[in-house]
Amino acid sequence: TTPGTGKHITILHTNDTHARAVESSPAMGFAKVAGIADKYRSENPNTLLLDAGDAVHGTTFATLVNGESIVKVMNEIGYQAIVPGNHEFNYGSERLIELADMMNFPMLSANVKKKDGTRLFEPYLIKEVDGVKIGIIALTTPETMYKTNPKNVEGLDITDPTAEAKVLVNEIRSKVDVVVVLGHLGQDASSTDTSFKVVKEVPGIDVFIDGHSHTVLQDGLVSDNGTLIASAGEYTNFVGVIDLWVDGGKVTKKQATLIDETEAKDIKPNEKVATLVNSIQKEQEPILKEEVANTAILLDGKREQVRAGETNLGDLLADAIRDVSKADIALTNGGGIRSSIEKGIVTKGDIITVLPFGNQVVTLEVTGSDVIAALENGVGSYPEPSGGFPQVSGMTFSIDSSAAKGSRVHSVMIGDKTLDPKATYTMATNDFTAVGGDEYTMFAKYTTSGMYGAMDEALIEYMQKLGAVDIKTDGRIKEAKAP
Ligand code: ATP
Ligand code: ZN
Repeated sequence: TTPGTGKHITILHTNDTHARAVESSPAMGFAKVAGIADKYRSENPNTLLLDAGDAVHGTTFATLVNGESIVKVMNEIGYQAIVPGNHEFNYGSERLIELADMMNFPMLSANVKKKDGTRLFEPYLIKEVDGVKIGIIALTTPETMYKTNPKNVEGLDITDPTAEAKVLVNEIRSKVDVVVVLGHLGQDASSTDTSFKVVKEVPGIDVFIDGHSHTVLQDGLVSDNGTLIASAGEYTNFVGVIDLWVDGGKVTKKQATLIDETEAKDIKPNEKVATLVNSIQKEQEPILKEEVANTAILLDGKREQVRAGETNLGDLLADAIRDVSKADIALTNGGGIRSSIEKGIVTKGDIITVLPFGNQVVTLEVTGSDVIAALENGVGSYPEPSGGFPQVSGMTFSIDSSAAKGSRVHSVMIGDKTLDPKATYTMATNDFTAVGGDEYTMFAKYTTSGMYGAMDEALIEYMQKLGAVDIKTDGRIKEAKAP
């Protein structure tokens, strides 16, 4: 394509890489991402590399060391800024600050605040590249407040990104030549605070680099206000490339594209990054390869399944946490089950991949009426998948999806007895739902009555107890019209 007039700036970007450090087609892996960055930097020294969030969590490569491995790799690649996505909070906000301190580049977010209104991070950065001043304003999705374990965002507030953007664009617009927003907001209609909303309501943004919805925008999009929106999918499947030409304080031309593995096939992976990724993998291998159990059957943890109905892995996990706690019943959110387990030998790595959040098993003494309220909450969007879908043990129930939200659950049995709304039951769950995660707000008022260690340990122990696991769904959750 024909260049614009003035200085040429290239902005490379990734988002939702979710710790896919190692190449696994179509994921290119970080050595290749680095190789792509090297190539662009050699062609245009005025090149920036940014990340739009959800980098430090998503595979054992990251979770085994609470995100540190990803920071090391991103430092080596030479990223220049990152905005925390919702998953950056998965290890708690204290750990997030530690990770930010380990980064050789700034973590920015304008709308992550402490309760006193002060910011946790710098809201923006002004980078001067070859005389061109580029302002980079960062925004985090407010969905983080309910998508991560509430304890991870305790004492924090994630404010309206549109309002923050308005103030900050206004503040820096006249001081810079280019305004870039680095956002982990996404484009899903289900979200109140999308990147579309920000660009619509806040004029004066030249480029919006987005993450969160894992959207693939091959050539970007241009909003009514003339903002170029870019998003590079997920998992290092793409590196985004934005070309800007800036003349006399104005962007004269801008364009976006994505590079995938096919286009990058002749680009050499960066050797130092490859070596670093390899050595981290080698270090972790003995832990991950440890054989902990055996299953005679595929254990179904597929996202669309565990978030919309009973699966054998859902049953198994709920049984496991009930068993370890000797509770009457158990309930665990389907969204907390992040992967399936293949038939055969099961490794520690497989288990951590299913349960990457480091959750704990806890018990609460809940009333029967709150058990109903919890089930109603969990099936609120059924048959649409949702993270809160309840996988249960020690109980059975039916869902009438033709009934109104809030009155769909019926025929609830605790063991072989009809649920008594006034009775108190000992319920095992994970510490995410126990404090109100996935809108299980009815649990938040209870204090924990028992703690039984990590979820992954409970699952391993229970599988070992069963020997060769051969569990099929037993119909504890049914779809049926109310009688
Ligand atoms: P993205 O990668 O696009 O940010 P996301 O993780 O925000 O995806 P989902 O994949 O839908 O979106 O995950 C959100 C769901 O993950 C929550 O609704 C919840 O079910 C589950 N979840 C998140 N954190 C935890 C946790 N600590 N324990 C258990 N479940 C969790
Ligand atoms: Zn993500």
